[in-house]
Amino acid sequence: MTSTIAAQSTPVGRGAIAIIRLSGPDSEKILKSCFKPLSGKKMTASHLTLGTLEAGEIKDRAMAVLFKAPISYTGEDMAEIHVHGSQEIATKTLQFLLKNGARLAESGEFTRRAFLSGKIGLNEAEAVGDLINARSTAQINAAYSALSGATSEEIRGIYAGLLDVISSFDAAVDYPEEDVEEMLESEALEKIKELKVRLIRLARSYEEGAKIKSGIRVAIIGEPNAGKSSLMNRLLGRDRAIVTAVPGTTRDTLEETFEHKGMLFVLVDTAGLHETSDVVESEGIRRARAELDSADIILRLAESGKSRPDITGKLIIDVSSKSDIAKGDGLNVSSVSGEGIEELKDLMFETASSGQVYGGGVVLTSERSYSLTLRALSSIKDAIDEMERASLVDLSIIYLKEAARFVGDIIGASAGEDTLNAIFSKFCVGK
Ligand code: GDP
Repeated sequence: MTSTIAAQSTPVGRGAIAIIRLSGPDSEKILKSCFKPLSGKKMTASHLTLGTLEAGEIKDRAMAVLFKAPISYTGEDMAEIHVHGSQEIATKTLQFLLKNGARLAESGEFTRRAFLSGKIGLNEAEAVGDLINARSTAQINAAYSALSGATSEEIRGIYAGLLDVISSFDAAVDYPEEDVEEMLESEALEKIKELKVRLIRLARSYEEGAKIKSGIRVAIIGEPNAGKSSLMNRLLGRDRAIVTAVPGTTRDTLEETFEHKGMLFVLVDTAGLHETSDVVESEGIRRARAELDSADIILRLAESGKSRPDITGKLIIDVSSKSDIAKGDGLNVSSVSGEGIEELKDLMFETASSGQVYGGGVVLTSERSYSLTLRALSSIKDAIDEMERASLVDLSIIYLKEAARFVGDIIGASAGEDTLNAIFSKFCVGK
């Protein structure tokens, strides 16, 4: 028999309101033992109702909502009580619930129940954890993408595809009629190759997701005095880099983050690229060149009429600086008048977005899912090798089953107790 759990879901302390949650078969009974709607009001499932709370020696004007299974977060009967946010009221209410049939929830137990009842996949449960822990817009958006259906749908699609191929193979092994088997094999090989491509794209979405989390690196490159430091300050909207008319002022790389349209950018100001005998400056130039390798986008900056550094092979945006003095080619910007600055930010955003493999919001964010994807990919490659090399169907079935198990583990189709404990123990109580 499943127990009914209770916990305070809002932070402990004083606030405007505090929320205490219940989940499990006795939620309704326990709620009704302490909460009565105001006269004339009726409790309807999924509707917040105003009423009176009487929990032992305390009383409060409170609101409560009852969710009937399976239409709730956990998939079980659930209730929420919104009390006035004195910690004393919240604690007394929770104690009352615990005395009347509920037990205290463990960390992440509500979400664990949501997973166990099939409401959400394991990857989505992890995304809930990421959302709670998110500290930037970019992290919130990445976690939300992982939580919203598209990512799970893609993973479930790959999983179903693998099971489909496996079952058609199993059937062929059971009924070995030559030509049927051959036809199946060539058809299946096509399907497996398609699944491999989808797994590769999924893995790449993690690499992108990681970038979204840590920020898109944008290096500003140009000759001394091109206006790099001024542009950095203007993009950041505050003074960070030192601006002087003396060439060679930025001797090291400087980096700062800013957000545009919810995307996090790491802006890197570099030493001007030119020949110099100054030892410190040479080191700065060496670092600037190294930055060219690690940057995702390069802003190639030059004043009108001056030459741009000769770099190729990256996502490059050509920018003409000091447009208040003279116009040049590429995008004209002025750190003095502000001309072109918003356009440049938009262009950086579009350039960063254009490299993404998935348009539809498929992002793998957890390290666990990523490593399972890579393992599935390696198994599927082995399966393809076996089929192409020796047409060994029996052996490739083994590899395909392995791949299916790894993909299944991402959504938690066959996750063991240890995995679940590792994931849910990181949650707070009440989630
Ligand atoms: P860096 O050496 O490439 O980092 O260039 P700085 O940002 O230090 O700028 C060099 C000089 O150009 C400074 O005297 C700036 O005031 C000036 N400068 C930079 N950007 C602009 C601009 O958009 N318009 C004008 N008129 N002057 C600028």
